[in-house]
Amino acid sequence: MALIDISNLANAGIRGLRAYDPGHDLVALRRRCAGAQLVELGSNENPYGASPKAKQAIVEGLARIHVYPDPLGGDLKRALAAKHGIETSSILLGNGSHELLMQFAQVFAGPGDEVVASIFGFAVYALAAQAAGADVRLAPAHARDHPMARGHDLDAVLATIGRRTKLVYLANPNNPTGTWFGDDAFAAFLSRVPERVIVVVDEAYAEFVDAPDFASALALVARHPTLVVTRTFSKAHALAGLRVGFAVADAGLVAIMERVRESFNVNVLGLAAAEAALADEVHLQASIAGNALQRDALAAALRDRGLMVSPSQTNFLLVEFGHDAARVEAALVQRGIVLRPMAGYGLGDCLRITIGTEPENAQLLLMLDEVMA
Ligand code: PMP
Repeated sequence: MALIDISNLANAGIRGLRAYDPGHDLVALRRRCAGAQLVELGSNENPYGASPKAKQAIVEGLARIHVYPDPLGGDLKRALAAKHGIETSSILLGNGSHELLMQFAQVFAGPGDEVVASIFGFAVYALAAQAAGADVRLAPAHARDHPMARGHDLDAVLATIGRRTKLVYLANPNNPTGTWFGDDAFAAFLSRVPERVIVVVDEAYAEFVDAPDFASALALVARHPTLVVTRTFSKAHALAGLRVGFAVADAGLVAIMERVRESFNVNVLGLAAAEAALADEVHLQASIAGNALQRDALAAALRDRGLMVSPSQTNFLLVEFGHDAARVEAALVQRGIVLRPMAGYGLGDCLRITIGTEPENAQLLLMLDEVMA
């Protein structure tokens, strides 16, 4: 019997691909430390939890899980349209924003095309491009000692765009650096990007931003038919487990994306919970305020320990541990603290720390002092 190498049957783009690294096997870790509380600061989740109104909507939604979800997501789109002052026709719903990020490359780039991102941009961008069979071109980032350490350098991104570039991915603010770019810089960037290039601005963490120079790119979509903004309910709205994200773009662009969307991609409970979460501004603001307070406190505590912490407008911090990073990370896992290693980003000397609640951060610092003593 001839042995077939199955990988040779995959599309060229997929053959060279490594699957997205979601970090530790948390289920196995939780089982191993049975009973003891694991402090999970590796996945940028929201430790304050979802709105009680969203939870109530989920309970009510249980009566409808034997039927398919609304394939149009009409109620959620109308709520989003009202909230952001946009048309429902300019909204595309996703099973998390991750799904949509993958599909933009699938739809707009292919073999022979290039997709541009920043070297320390979110890992999914390169994955999306490669899965579509396109070539990835990574722009250099700001230097380590720049005020926006390792953040997007929009001039460098611009210089990386070439004749074959079909799509550019930017994250604002960015994961894993936590850094952001200002609205003036982005407007200047956008005015210089060739018209034929789709620009995707991933604003997964936008609700957490309080920097005065930041403005959402949502306001620019109406004037730029090739600008796409993605958002998610996974972070500030604390619905990561239900997988709801969305994109806002020109209605024509959304209509093209609809051709590849699985019609029931957002489930019954996700639609109901997202709509209810959107209506609970008080809960959202409490999460944002809690995060901002803890972000400042944790960054200061880490800096007091001599660690370099990148400026962050998100719910996580990128922290430099030098040669010690892998040892510190492993020793913390042993003590029930889960962080995210950064070697996959070429940042093996850094760890990414999700900002937890005050007790979680205190526990992290306690264990960190023990490990680094
Ligand atoms: N964009 C960025 C920058 C992220 O960090 C993440 C999640 N870690 C996502 C998109 C995807 O989020 P989701 O699929 O849960 O919407």
